[in-house]
Amino acid sequence: MDGSSVELNHVSLEQENQDLREIIEIATQITADLDVESIIKNVVWSIIARFRTDTVTFIFPIEDDTVKLKIIHYEGLKRKELKTVLTSIDPIINYFEKVEYSQISYKEFYESFPDKRISRELKRIKTDFIVPLRTNKGVTGILLLPGKSSKEPFTLLETQYIARIIRFASIAVENASLYHQATTDRMTKLFSHHFFEKALDDEISRARRYGTFFSLVMFDIDHFKTFNDTYGHLQGDIIIKKIAKLLLNSIRQIDFAARYGGEEFTIILPQVDLNGAAIVAERLRKLIEEYEFPGDGRVLHVTISLGVAEYNSERIHSLSQMVNEVDKALYESKETGRNKVTLAK
Ligand code: GH3
Ligand code: MG
Ligand code: MG
Repeated sequence: MDGSSVELNHVSLEQENQDLREIIEIATQITADLDVESIIKNVVWSIIARFRTDTVTFIFPIEDDTVKLKIIHYEGLKRKELKTVLTSIDPIINYFEKVEYSQISYKEFYESFPDKRISRELKRIKTDFIVPLRTNKGVTGILLLPGKSSKEPFTLLETQYIARIIRFASIAVENASLYHQATTDRMTKLFSHHFFEKALDDEISRARRYGTFFSLVMFDIDHFKTFNDTYGHLQGDIIIKKIAKLLLNSIRQIDFAARYGGEEFTIILPQVDLNGAAIVAERLRKLIEEYEFPGDGRVLHVTISLGVAEYNSERIHSLSQMVNEVDKALYESKETGRNKVTLAK
């Protein structure tokens, strides 16, 4: 072994060492993260930082009512440049389901992928390297990387780096999706009833232990049975989904909104007292009252009735007591005319 190769080995050992340290750092962050988008963003930015590539695309098909496919994150490309690749994502994913590769160069892909039109499309967006994201459910996404600006091929060390990060990303994404499924109501994407109870229980414990305060709002759509009978159940579903969106857009990041039942919703407002919560509730009541819901060729209107309660450590000792208070206030709103806010006594 001559002096220069000892030198080279030394450099690559240093690099591998640094890579591993970085991978541990990123893995620690993303496996504790329960948000798929932020996991992917973290991974994409680590790859950009490591390779200084001009583009990185992470396509992660998500089933939604409106968009079947969603690009989770991309850098350096315009969305419309990805249009054809997006519409051809199923055959690409199927391809990776059938092969074992944890990564593949564009050249190998081009030679083995049957549909040349699709492979040329990947070339057009400068793909040089493709990495599938594999989870228990199979291949759930793909990462597309361009060639390096130096035009040099990826070294073994570099492909290892990417493969390792993607391994951790797969685990993190799988965890986050399981968590999401277990805690989210499918129809509205709000938290589920079950998870609401856990969150409320946690909030009560926190308030008791640290002397913090919080409020709870509960609301129910008025005369919704009649609405369904008049416009149909499907139209009713559209209203429920839209109200969930309006609700999410009108609360803070730290607030917690759940679908409590069919057309009943709850909001936990940490660090908000009764008066503050009354303002939030009234704003929401007015927003819904004035909102023009799109119907079948016409505009539709609905109203909601709300109850508001603030946690009080002397009076409230359990989750069900807290729910009872807010439920009573909501009931009073219903009894005294609907489309109104009532504060718990
Ligand atoms: P009010 O609350 O003003 O007293 O009258 P209401 O007619 O809304 O009465 P209630 O809250 O008891 O009835 C709930 C209605 O909401 C009946 C049910 O068909 C409807 N509903 C519950 N869940 C859903 C759902 O997921 N989709 C649709 N379309 N309707 C639902
Ligand atoms: Mg109801
Ligand atoms: Mg109702």
